[in-house]
Amino acid sequence: MRQDYGGTLGVCTIVAKMLSMPLGPFQFCFWAFLIAMISLAGNPAVARQSNVQVVYAAPRNPAHEPLYRTLREKRVLERVRSRIDGLRLPRVLTMTVAGCDGEVDASYETSNATVTICYEYLAYIQELGRSIPPAGVAEGLTPANYIVGPFLEVVLHELAHAIFDLKKVPILGREEDAADQVAAYTLLRLGKDEVRRVIASIAVMYASEVKEAPTELKDFANEHSLPAQRFYNLLCMAYGSDRQTFGDFVEKGYLPAERAELCEEEYRQVKFAFERLVAPHLKGAKAPNR
Ligand SMILES: [Zn+2]
Repeated sequence: MRQDYGGTLGVCTIVAKMLSMPLGPFQFCFWAFLIAMISLAGNPAVARQSNVQVVYAAPRNPAHEPLYRTLREKRVLERVRSRIDGLRLPRVLTMTVAGCDGEVDASYETSNATVTICYEYLAYIQELGRSIPPAGVAEGLTPANYIVGPFLEVVLHELAHAIFDLKKVPILGREEDAADQVAAYTLLRLGKDEVRRVIASIAVMYASEVKEAPTELKDFANEHSLPAQRFYNLLCMAYGSDRQTFGDFVEKGYLPAERAELCEEEYRQVKFAFERLVAPHLKGAKAPNR
């Protein structure tokens, strides 16, 4: 079974547009910042036996060559692995970046326990960073630091699917929402210096996807929540976790007051479920910063 990320775009015209754009030095700026961010939580583990393997698949699309080279040279997947290497897993988990034949997505495949982040998805979030809306600029987002949040979010979302599967974690509600909640809860434990910007960049991504909102009834049958719902769910989790840091989300009108009333309780529910059902499986993995 394959759990995907629910990139609302699928195979779409945006991909064709962005693949024709040169990435140039811009992308190095992106990845340098991303690596610095991942490294904030610690340096890659010293090489040893691991139950997580990383694979950089050679891209079929020549436009993805620069991404492939940069990710491999900068050892981005190894750095992610260093954060989860203490997980006690019943089988080897593979994390890979690979071409997905034009599909802007990421997925977890249960049959071979593999998390795949598509080059197309990485190119897509790089491209979003080129045009940050004013609200994002006001949050301190730049083309260089924008990519960090969406990248960490998609990786954590897919790893959540992997942990649900490999550790047989019971799930109430929709698995896709649960994976979003695990990713958000984990990110909200980043240090105060990073957490606001990371949450803002993911919110900006969802907001941009709202423009691709479904228009047909069958689109609402998707197993993922709609981008607008994922936007508000994320903001609600953030607000519920820390009103001091995220209180202005309501004042600025990003999060409706009617929803905000429930957010502390929503966050508490996720925290309770995470601590009870997921955290026991994370023993050995390095603790978040906060
Ligand atoms: Zn998913």
